[in-house]
Amino acid sequence: MRSIRLFLISSILATLILFNFVAALQGYQSSMREADTLFDNQMLDLARLVSNLDVSSASSKDLRLGNNLSFQIWNESRLIAASHNAPVEPLQSFVPGFEYANFDGYRWRTFTRYEVPLDRWVIVAERTDLRFVLAENVVLQSILPLLLGIPIVGLLIWIIVSHGLRPLQQLSSALRNKGANDLSPILSADSRIELDQVIESINGFIQRLDRVMEREKRFSADAAHELRTPMSALKVQLHNLSEEIDTKHESFHQLQEGVDRMQHLIEQLLSLYRATPEQFAKNCETIDLYGITQDQLASLYPSFEEKEQSIELIGDSIEIEADKFALETLISNLLGNANKYTQRGGNIVVSVEDLGSEVCLRVEDNGPGIADAEKSRVFDRFYRVDSNDGAARAPGCGLGLTIVSHVADLHQARVEVKDSSFASGSAFCIYFKKKS
Ligand code: ADP
Repeated sequence: MRSIRLFLISSILATLILFNFVAALQGYQSSMREADTLFDNQMLDLARLVSNLDVSSASSKDLRLGNNLSFQIWNESRLIAASHNAPVEPLQSFVPGFEYANFDGYRWRTFTRYEVPLDRWVIVAERTDLRFVLAENVVLQSILPLLLGIPIVGLLIWIIVSHGLRPLQQLSSALRNKGANDLSPILSADSRIELDQVIESINGFIQRLDRVMEREKRFSADAAHELRTPMSALKVQLHNLSEEIDTKHESFHQLQEGVDRMQHLIEQLLSLYRATPEQFAKNCETIDLYGITQDQLASLYPSFEEKEQSIELIGDSIEIEADKFALETLISNLLGNANKYTQRGGNIVVSVEDLGSEVCLRVEDNGPGIADAEKSRVFDRFYRVDSNDGAARAPGCGLGLTIVSHVADLHQARVEVKDSSFASGSAFCIYFKKKS
């Protein structure tokens, strides 16, 4: 995967290095030019010094110039004085001015001068490698701190680029943390011109998605609503028929079950799409969670009794802000599932627990439980777990827990499904915000 950060850091660093390299090259050339002028001036001085030399005196033999410099004084074609390292033949042809020559294994810069009054030629020479050494030293001294500074500059660029990319990271984590049902627009606290366009496009897409979802919800709600009346009529017809024909017939029984299932599905679809944020805002009231759970339990008690299940309610009155109808639907779905999926004679415990800022409604049973791999999927629409022992599945349409999670979302409550504290079974926990 290619990284914008790495691309920016490497390209900025490469540009800086290239720029420094070109600057160093230019520095080297100008240092060379300066070294040339400097050394040439020194040679002019040396030539002047050598010109004034009294070749007859002993001091001319003592003139020690070191190995880098050399001179010769010629009269006609006679060498009358020379430095110790000078060859016996002329260092340069007798033409006044600067030139280059090779001797003693080095390349030398030479300066030739004719002394009119004394009628002699003075040739001074200096090794050229010294000029390169000087220029290289100058460049090295200026480039070395830059070379050593590359890691520090790289680190600084890393910090700056990371800082610059932070709004992008914030945007990506805002998108990552968005719930599947959260189609609200993204708000950027740390706005940047470049990102505003991206956020605008994402928000435009979210808006379009929201409209499509809304249309789909409305269609499902309308369809469920339209199906409700013919379904009630069908039930009445079935009831009338049961008084006229033999109801022990298997087909009649199946027909009755099918109609009941259909009616359940329609009711579940309606409760799923009836609970909207607008409805929630309108119907929100202070409700005693313990009290409403007790009421739902009482109305479903016959089903538990019918399966000889023991059911216990633990807790105290705790108030929350809720939509009464939606909350009743949530509780009855959880209780209904506990009743449906727990075996005859099983145990169900319902508790309302004060956790400080939150209230936990917990419904647990000692039924078959839900495998870990299925735990997150049971909240999906129309998802039903296959019974692995081949036993007949309890009737249902796979919408109950979707409604639970939808209602919990509306109440800004968290839903968790865990293993129960019994030897087997599942526990559904809904964490509501306590009324402040
Ligand atoms: P339905 O009950 O209509 O099938 P739900 O959405 O309520 O749909 O549940 C989805 C699935 O989760 C069910 O098919 C069932 O397998 C599993 N489930 C729900 N509650 C329980 C429970 N208390 N114990 C075991 N499995 C459960």
